[in-house]
Amino acid sequence: MAIFLIVKYVNPTMAKPKLTIMPDKAQHVEITSPNDLALNKLCELLRVLANDLEFPTADGEYPWPQPQLDLCAQYGVFKWFFEEQYGGFGWSEHDLTLGYLALSAACQTTTFIITQRAGACRHIALSGNDYVQNELIPDLLSGSHFSTVGISHLTTSHRHLAQPVLRAEETEKGFVLNGFSPWVTGAVQADTIMVGAQLEDGRQILTVVPTNIPGVKTETPAHLVAFSSSHTSRVNFEEAEVDGKWLLAGPIENMMAQGTGARTGGRQTSTLAIGLAGAAIDFITAESENRPNIIPPVTALGNEWSELRGVLLASVAGKETCGIEELRQRCNNLVLRATQASLSVAKGTGFVTGHPAGRWCCEALFFMVWSCPQSVMNAQLCQLARIPSE
Ligand SMILES: Cc1cc2nc3c(=O)[nH]c(=O)nc-3n(C[C@H](O)[C@H](O)[C@H](O)COP(=O)(O)OP(=O)(O)OC[C@H]3O[C@@H](n4cnc5c(N)ncnc54)[C@H](O)[C@@H]3O)c2cc1C
Repeated sequence: MAIFLIVKYVNPTMAKPKLTIMPDKAQHVEITSPNDLALNKLCELLRVLANDLEFPTADGEYPWPQPQLDLCAQYGVFKWFFEEQYGGFGWSEHDLTLGYLALSAACQTTTFIITQRAGACRHIALSGNDYVQNELIPDLLSGSHFSTVGISHLTTSHRHLAQPVLRAEETEKGFVLNGFSPWVTGAVQADTIMVGAQLEDGRQILTVVPTNIPGVKTETPAHLVAFSSSHTSRVNFEEAEVDGKWLLAGPIENMMAQGTGARTGGRQTSTLAIGLAGAAIDFITAESENRPNIIPPVTALGNEWSELRGVLLASVAGKETCGIEELRQRCNNLVLRATQASLSVAKGTGFVTGHPAGRWCCEALFFMVWSCPQSVMNAQLCQLARIPSE
């Protein structure tokens, strides 16, 4: 049976999208390696659909990229993140990095949502909790279950406050949660959220929380500078009792420093930044074919991009030539400059909503705040102030 997708074609020089219909013939081709041609096909589809996410629907809300996530499911993307023993493809860090580089150049919003989903999958796979694994992994692999993470309050958010914002109390049955998780991507869409919470004695837990249990209340998704379609919102917990069968890790002190803890400022954020910078540089390269004056800057940006991609892949392979935080700073710096260069090249046309250059600039700002460790934040500020960092 042929399935058709309604998609918009965007001419990069025009802001107005044109409706067209494209058959998705490759819907059953699973991408089993980053060299599969099907990855290019999926990225082409995501690139075309990305423009849709910039426009709110009639009710003023931004659309959740369900068609994009359905495509990813059809192409087997969700299997990349699980080992073969669970029915996944068990991609290596190297292959995942290549996969993320391709996806993120095509559609940052969809790829960002996938990173949060993959974060939940990773913790579930590492937990050794048979109940959770049997219950969730089959549907996570097929894409029929959506899980996300709410852990930033244990790493990079609300850390300056005296009290933890999400508290857990151990009961006979499990844990009662009170407080909130400030940022949860796709919370309103989620069947389960993997949250971190702190006990009174300072120990922390990571637990799956089914979103339909009493006391879990998701706020309306925030309107953001970019990625509004990621439906990121605060989730409130009022006497929400989570059964102990959902516990993934803990109670333990300093959960995030442990092997199964969530990593901040890791290579994944840098990967998505390089992916986005690549999209902007490709755009400028195409423009430079008829505009020779653009060639020197795009050549310099392209060289820097290739070098950083090499540094990233070496780092993933354990052959670090610079530390993870320095890599993050360099990637942040490049993505901000490359996207702004694309806007400069696209000129006023790029400033009209619907042109990718303007969108890329807004998306690049996210890397200044996403899971950004204090040291990267400090270096960023010093760079902006043009003073040497400590
Ligand atoms: C679009 C988006 C999606 C996200 N998705 C997720 C997700 O799915 N899961 C997840 O776990 N996390 C997610 N995050 C969280 C993200 O990774 C960071 O944790 C977050 O951006 C940190 O910002 P914050 O405003 O919460 O930081 P905070 O440090 O809490 O800062 C909040 C405010 O407090 C003030 N402040 C900060 N530090 C101090 C200080 N030392 N003294 C006094 N005042 C201070 C500042 O004025 C600041 O505006 C998301 C974030 C965004 C923006």
